[in-house]
Amino acid sequence: MDRAKHLESIGHETFDLCIVGGGASGTGSALDAALRGLKVVLIEQDDFASETSSRSTKLIHGGVRYLEQAFKNLDFAQLRQVRHGLEERHIVLHNAPHLAHELGLITPVSTWLEGLYFSIGLKLYDWFASGSDTLQGSRWLSKADTLARVPGLSRNIHSAVLYYDGQLDDARYCLALVQSAAEAGAIVVNHAQVVDFEKDMAGGLQAAVVRDTLSNGRVRIRSKVFLNCTGPHADRIRMMANPALTARIRPSKCVHVVLPLDVLDSRDALLIPKTKDGRVVFAIPFEGRLLLGTTDNDVLNSTEEPVLEAAEVEFLLETLQPFVAKPLDRNLVRSGFGGLRPLIAAVNKQTKTLLRDHEVERDTESGLFSLLGGKWTTYRLMAKDAIDAVCNRLGVEKACQTGSHLLAGAEDFDFDRIKKQLTDQGLNDDISQHLTLKYGSRAIRVSAIGQQQPELMEPILPDMPFIKAEVVYAARYEMACTVRDFLARRIRLEISDWNAAMAAAPGVSALMGDELGWTAQEKTAHAAAYMELIATFIQRSQA
Ligand SMILES: Cc1cc2nc3c(=O)[nH]c(=O)nc-3n(C[C@H](O)[C@H](O)[C@H](O)COP(=O)(O)OP(=O)(O)OC[C@H]3O[C@@H](n4cnc5c(N)ncnc54)[C@H](O)[C@@H]3O)c2cc1C
Repeated sequence: MDRAKHLESIGHETFDLCIVGGGASGTGSALDAALRGLKVVLIEQDDFASETSSRSTKLIHGGVRYLEQAFKNLDFAQLRQVRHGLEERHIVLHNAPHLAHELGLITPVSTWLEGLYFSIGLKLYDWFASGSDTLQGSRWLSKADTLARVPGLSRNIHSAVLYYDGQLDDARYCLALVQSAAEAGAIVVNHAQVVDFEKDMAGGLQAAVVRDTLSNGRVRIRSKVFLNCTGPHADRIRMMANPALTARIRPSKCVHVVLPLDVLDSRDALLIPKTKDGRVVFAIPFEGRLLLGTTDNDVLNSTEEPVLEAAEVEFLLETLQPFVAKPLDRNLVRSGFGGLRPLIAAVNKQTKTLLRDHEVERDTESGLFSLLGGKWTTYRLMAKDAIDAVCNRLGVEKACQTGSHLLAGAEDFDFDRIKKQLTDQGLNDDISQHLTLKYGSRAIRVSAIGQQQPELMEPILPDMPFIKAEVVYAARYEMACTVRDFLARRIRLEISDWNAAMAAAPGVSALMGDELGWTAQEKTAHAAAYMELIATFIQRSQA
């Protein structure tokens, strides 16, 4: 993925499809369209997955909670969504097994009756998932079994129920999608923003005006069809295409706080079924930490990055405290992040009761297609619906192929074999495991860089599994253009440890600068700007 080459080619061509937005929806659509033979370009204003798609809870699920609501309300549409989610769960896990895996979720119960109620519900969930599904079935655990699996839990429980869903590294999954799309022929450019559209006399879209946010240069992209995949920002693009349109998206701010893993001391996750404001909260192991979230609040200003605030830390710690033995306080906070849920607006309803469904809209005046709403779990189905509609418009009759298309890094993936190849090259166990799980079968390409320059085999920070060759690989082959692209999306250090991310920034900037041709001053300035940003996150979470 050579950004300069991709950028160079976009001004000279007329595309079948121009996709705006490089999150799960946009990259999933780019892959689907490219595999059907369309000439496609994808434009992302920041980094791939820089917004909602790197800030999710990272669960691939049908939604046990939605199943309960579907039965309570006899809502068959909701039941269908659970079913779709469970079908897609299987595909997400199968198509990139290095980035998505099974995760056990435990819900403690306080009475026998409560245990029975949840067990019946979860058996139904298992039943809905049956077919090609390969995840383990649910179980009712005794108190002793529960505490053996999750030693950090409060002793004040009757028993617990256990069920399985999927978990993914959301940002790297999105990167695997965009890499796969590029390998199937799509042109993809990050750090490029659609700032305007050119229209014909009748208001139909003809070209997008794109600003390269790194160089400030501008380029026009001519395309037969434009697809808006900008998630929570979809209304801005809709109204840029046709100012007469009314808002459809109701962004909701959701945050996670990141704690040490020993709070639960488990490989399983904890599901808190009902908070004091009636929602579900998860505490999930990820990257050696515990992600705790989320909150859920309507936002008025969706242009600002949604950062973790002190009151949100307080709320989440208070919610978790009754379930764990360890006393929780804000000194445990290692990091945190917020995202905007791209909910489709419904009149007179609370945000948390709106469904996470999706819709493909076509504006008849401008011709703009918009892929609205949805969730990570169903990104492929959403993309399929959008590209079916685009193909229909273009008169192309090609079926969707993404159902069984292995993503970048999933080709010939065999965890034990690849990890052994890396340990045979002298990398320690933690580093070999990290590289295998993040790059899949391409981990060998990362270590090959280190083989040529042995100093790049060294860790970026002591006692952490990230090596310097990853910075070079990310800049050369994964279109990482900034220190944050690398630390937040390529290796995820920013979401697991703010202080470690700050400590890594100067070294990362120096290596990245060598690859991207930065001067010594630029290297220092990029590292300093990143450290300043993280310092403000720390301050906001404590203020
Ligand atoms: C806190 C939270 C937790 C969640 N947890 C889960 C979960 O556990 N499981 C699950 O299935 N789903 C979950 N979701 C939902 C899921 O993350 C989202 O539905 C999904 O990531 C949305 O992807 P998207 O591509 O539509 O939007 P985004 O990821 O936001 O992508 C839109 C992209 O468009 C770009 N863009 C905007 N304007 C322009 C422009 N003018 N030019 C170019 N690019 C532009 C943005 O930079 C952005 O990268 C969660 C959501 C949140 C907020």
